[in-house]
Amino acid sequence: MNKLVKKISVILMMCMLISFSGIESMAVEISENDENKTIISEEENEISLEQEAEATNPDENTQEEVENSQEISENQEEIEYIYLDKKILADGEEQNIVVALEDEEKKLDSASLIYEFKETAERNEIEASNMVDNTVLFTLPYDILSQGSYRLIGVECAIGEEKIFLEFQEEEIAEFEVSAEDKVKDTEAVPEVTAYAMGDDGNVVEESGDNITEAVESAIRQMAAPTAISQFSTRARESRDSEFVIALDPGHDSHCGGAHANGLAEEVLTLKVANYCKEELEKYDGVKVIMTRTGAECPNPLPGSYSSAKDIRQRVQKAVQQGADVIVSFHFNSSGSGSANGAEVIYQNQSYDAAIGLESKALAEKIQKELVALGLKDRGIYSKDSTDGSHDPNGVKDDYWTLHNEAKALGKPAVLIEHAFVSGNVDSANLKKESYLKQLGIADAKGIINQYDLLNGGPRKEPGVGKIEFKATGEDTFDVILSDVKNEEKIQTIYVPIWSANNNQDDIYWYAAQRQSDGTYKVSVDIKKHKGDRGNYIAHVYIIDKQGNQILANDGQYKVIYYHASIDTLKVSQNATDKTKLDIVVSGINAPNGVDRIQAAVWSENNGQDDIVWYTMSKQSNGDYKVQVNIANHKYDAGIYNVHIYLFDKEGLSFLPKATNISISVPNVSIAAKPLPDNSTQVQLSASNVGIYGNVQNVRFAVWSAENGQDDMKWYFGTRNNSGVWQVTIDTSTHTGTGVFYVHSYSVLADGTDKFLGNTEFTVKKQTTASIEKLEVNKTNENTFEVLLKGVTASNGVKNIQVPIWSEENGQDDLVWYDASKKADGTYYVNVDIKNHKYNTGIYNIHVYLFDKTGKAFLLKTTSTRVELAEVKITASDMDGSQKNFQLKAANVGKYGNVQNVRFAVWSAENGQDDLIWYTGKQNGSGTWTATAEIARHKSSGTFLVHVYAMLADGTDKFLGTTSFEVKKQGVASIGKIDVTTDEKGNINVNLAKVYAATGVKKISVAVWSETNGRMI
Ligand SMILES: [Zn+2]
Repeated sequence: MNKLVKKISVILMMCMLISFSGIESMAVEISENDENKTIISEEENEISLEQEAEATNPDENTQEEVENSQEISENQEEIEYIYLDKKILADGEEQNIVVALEDEEKKLDSASLIYEFKETAERNEIEASNMVDNTVLFTLPYDILSQGSYRLIGVECAIGEEKIFLEFQEEEIAEFEVSAEDKVKDTEAVPEVTAYAMGDDGNVVEESGDNITEAVESAIRQMAAPTAISQFSTRARESRDSEFVIALDPGHDSHCGGAHANGLAEEVLTLKVANYCKEELEKYDGVKVIMTRTGAECPNPLPGSYSSAKDIRQRVQKAVQQGADVIVSFHFNSSGSGSANGAEVIYQNQSYDAAIGLESKALAEKIQKELVALGLKDRGIYSKDSTDGSHDPNGVKDDYWTLHNEAKALGKPAVLIEHAFVSGNVDSANLKKESYLKQLGIADAKGIINQYDLLNGGPRKEPGVGKIEFKATGEDTFDVILSDVKNEEKIQTIYVPIWSANNNQDDIYWYAAQRQSDGTYKVSVDIKKHKGDRGNYIAHVYIIDKQGNQILANDGQYKVIYYHASIDTLKVSQNATDKTKLDIVVSGINAPNGVDRIQAAVWSENNGQDDIVWYTMSKQSNGDYKVQVNIANHKYDAGIYNVHIYLFDKEGLSFLPKATNISISVPNVSIAAKPLPDNSTQVQLSASNVGIYGNVQNVRFAVWSAENGQDDMKWYFGTRNNSGVWQVTIDTSTHTGTGVFYVHSYSVLADGTDKFLGNTEFTVKKQTTASIEKLEVNKTNENTFEVLLKGVTASNGVKNIQVPIWSEENGQDDLVWYDASKKADGTYYVNVDIKNHKYNTGIYNIHVYLFDKTGKAFLLKTTSTRVELAEVKITASDMDGSQKNFQLKAANVGKYGNVQNVRFAVWSAENGQDDLIWYTGKQNGSGTWTATAEIARHKSSGTFLVHVYAMLADGTDKFLGTTSFEVKKQGVASIGKIDVTTDEKGNINVNLAKVYAATGVKKISVAVWSETNGRMI
């Protein structure tokens, strides 16, 4: 541990234990690493002690103060550190002061502290209450001190035989105040602990902290900083009473009288007029009047060393101690001649502080004006320089009068009024009137009131800073701008102590504000000087006036924030399962001021930003932010979507750290129109993929034909089928037009908005027709018939007519397509020969097809007809009764057309077909074929069988039919012809012809009987 720090800590600890209870806790641990030993000042100063000599010149009009310098000891010792634990010492407390010497090897044997009561410049000395090597503690109890300001002058030390005096080098440092208050209210958050250290530049630097350790640490750090800013600090005075304090000084007194003439005594008149003036001034708000004298006697003690000059100085000092802002001294003039009359006012010259001189002169003008207004002769106003050669550092002569000099020394304006001449023949008469004295007092008051604008509690002639503003100049820097600076002529310096709220005042710096050309004052702050702290900064504004008074003029707060935020990655993707959703994820969020919210502005490129929606993203457990976008919010637009990510931090800043776009496709809603088959006029309308719009309320189709505009528009509502397709079947015949039909489809979405789904079109051909008025079937011959088609029409014109015809026999094996021919009268016809149909008989089917010129086929008509033909007739007959030849005949063969031949197969039933013989027929006229069977060529008699076949024109064999005949056995007899005749005689003649007997005739018997009475007789 740094030895110095250790010792300071130890000694402070002791003093705490002994006498001090104001600090509740104290940490004395100091970092071992702190090696800052360079805090020691290298400056070598001659040590001198100023002693104020009492004036010996009794002349009140001369300078009394003489400075004597006395060199006590020359040494090279340096003060390393001064510490005070209180800026304001309250009743019952003790002030602890620690002083450390630079040389750590020094061991002090004794030490005493010289301190000064600033109000009277009285100095006192106190012995050390404790010492550790080179560090010493002084304790000043409240009881031995007076109320007011004290400053520390120096330390007198003894080291062995050597005695040295160490003067604290900087004026105004190491001051403290003693207050009558029991407890000082620390409304400014000024720390109780104050430490001072002397830096390389010889300046003493204040350090502050909540406790001693902090103060010491801070001091050491401050010393190490090459650009320590603070120069000094004293506690700001209690802010002055809001009252404007006017000190009235009735010149002279009973001990030191003034001019006397005409029975008038100056010291009497001055008190009277001053009292009248006071009475008048006190009518105003915010005015406090103090009197340097209220009785006839001299207000100050009268020791042997009394001088009027000393009395005057004391009057001024006391007035200032009581807060006087201005001092007005009352006098009356005198002359050896009664002709000298009138008023004059003497003001301060511009030595030391021109501003005071100017203010004094202005006041003199105002008062003189009022006095002259009473009728007093105007003797003018003026200042008077000293005559002894004394002057300020600029060579300007001091004032002549003690009043002026002393007031100026204390930073106050003062005027001396010579109201009138007690010796004057005009004035003296007036001065004998009490009312006139009162008028004089009122006139003085008016002048003062005019000068200080005291009406209505007007502004003070005090310096001030009306406005404090903060302006960021960078991420780590800001300016403090002080404006509305009042009574600037009274300002010496404006200091702005600034510290961050973080960790108390550990980073406080005192900045001297720089005056700008526009009259404002500025301090530029870089937070690096404040440990880089961000957050609230507190600034106080102290004005040091030209008299060295400190005034807390203003304060303010400013927040230092970050001006950046970023996002590493932005990912936008179309949801894989629901393509109507976009997933937006941002990660790697860096927002040093904290995230208030992250929003995604999303819009589709379609129609600009008409669909922009701001989505607030949700924070995920891993720190990412997410949102899912439903493209329903964007009119279900497909294509490019823009995604801009906005980050709003907790300081209200907004950033656009990321932007991207994504192109998405969604399943197309497709609208279709499908005509149903056949010549139907029905069309099926459908809308698919409507599901991308969610649960729609309906899907409807507007349908109209292109003909005549939308005159035939109709709405059709679809129904949803199991596949999610919305369908409806319409009949176009309910529309007036034909040709192109338009279909527009709409849907009412779940949220009630109407959505156009798409459109399509279809074509309905013009209606084509074909018809027939009459169909006739007429037999034209044995084997032919005619089909007549009458009144045939087709809307597109007849290309051709075909007539398929087939018999029902054996299915359609005989189907023939006939091309109809057209007659001159427009009748179509087809001639049918049944030979084309295998000579089939029975039902014939007839269909009539019309093909129009567009190729369309129409089945115009169907019918049927019955075809009937004469049967082929097969016969066999004995040609001459001899049973030797039989004629075979096949009639009606012609129905089979021109047969190539007709053949007769003949055989006797006896013994099978062993005697079958084929006889080829000969055509005999119209369709009859004959042949002769010769029995002799066959083996037997009895029953003969005949089968007949024909070879048709096409070479096929056709069975025509059968018959049979009988042949008698040989030996039998027969009569070929019997004729029975009856003659007139009743003879019955029986003629027998063609009598055959195989074995010859022997006899022929004829039996004859009547039918009466039975048979044969
Ligand atoms: Zn006088």
